[in-house]
Amino acid sequence: MKQNRMILALTYGTIALFSLISYSTQAQNSAKTLKRIIIDPGHGGTDPGANGKYSTEAAVSLAISLKLQDYFHDALPNVEVVLTRTTDVFNTVVEKADIANAAKGDLFICIHTNSADPSRNRQIIGHTKKTYTVKKKGVKRKITRVVPLYRNTYKPNTAKGTETYIYNVVKSDQRKEMADEAVDDVVEKLDSVSEKQIKEIDEADPTRSMMISLLTQQYFQRAASLALTIEEEFKAAGRLSREAKQRQKGIWVLAAVQMPAVLVETGFISNPEDEDYLNSEDGQNQICEVITKSVIRYKNSLENQLKTNAN
Ligand SMILES: [Zn+2]
Repeated sequence: MKQNRMILALTYGTIALFSLISYSTQAQNSAKTLKRIIIDPGHGGTDPGANGKYSTEAAVSLAISLKLQDYFHDALPNVEVVLTRTTDVFNTVVEKADIANAAKGDLFICIHTNSADPSRNRQIIGHTKKTYTVKKKGVKRKITRVVPLYRNTYKPNTAKGTETYIYNVVKSDQRKEMADEAVDDVVEKLDSVSEKQIKEIDEADPTRSMMISLLTQQYFQRAASLALTIEEEFKAAGRLSREAKQRQKGIWVLAAVQMPAVLVETGFISNPEDEDYLNSEDGQNQICEVITKSVIRYKNSLENQLKTNAN
């Protein structure tokens, strides 16, 4: 009895592992290259995002995103580009993710600007007497203490440069929920054989969720490679790069889209120098050139990967 069960478990395990391996190879072979890019200009409408001295993150992000669309059209004529907004409107992150998923994008790029709070310097400029009321065993009593007097001075934060984020690999509950709901969307992206493979698997079968997590891992790896490339290209263009990063808390919209996703912080709107750059024609062109170059490199590497797998 015990032995039988073990054999059964072993057989089952072998089948599951085998189908997972063959699925993995097929997913890699059949995975489409870059056909559709979703650009998501950060914030908008009632949500201006961070404020500079004279511009808002929402306006700068939209201007860069619209320009980026033109750059993509010129450099990648066979790639379709969809924007989550083209005017100054507010979309919730859920709406943004829905737009991206409905459009069945292969890549999601959020455009934002960064901001850093002014740094506070606290100085003791003297002392003063302060009277407190304390209660001891029901008896109120007044005591006087000498306390320091402070003056706060604020200096503009000097933080500047670019950062590119990918979502946290620790999946949020929302992502899990969405991933389960969107199984059909996910399998649609695969070729008919693997689609059949996934659909034939019982929902309660752990293999099914393993396959979905395999696809999630693939998105994550692709997003990470693009994020690194973008920051590399920013460096090559002479920008100060604060590197590719993973935010501890995670970024909801990046985790909710069913495709590789990155968020580009194009500069610090709180830094006067960066704000001028972000609002200038030259600055916006340079940002678009960097992202376009990176996406071309990303697309080429996907195509090379497919060729290697096919051979
Ligand atoms: Zn933002």
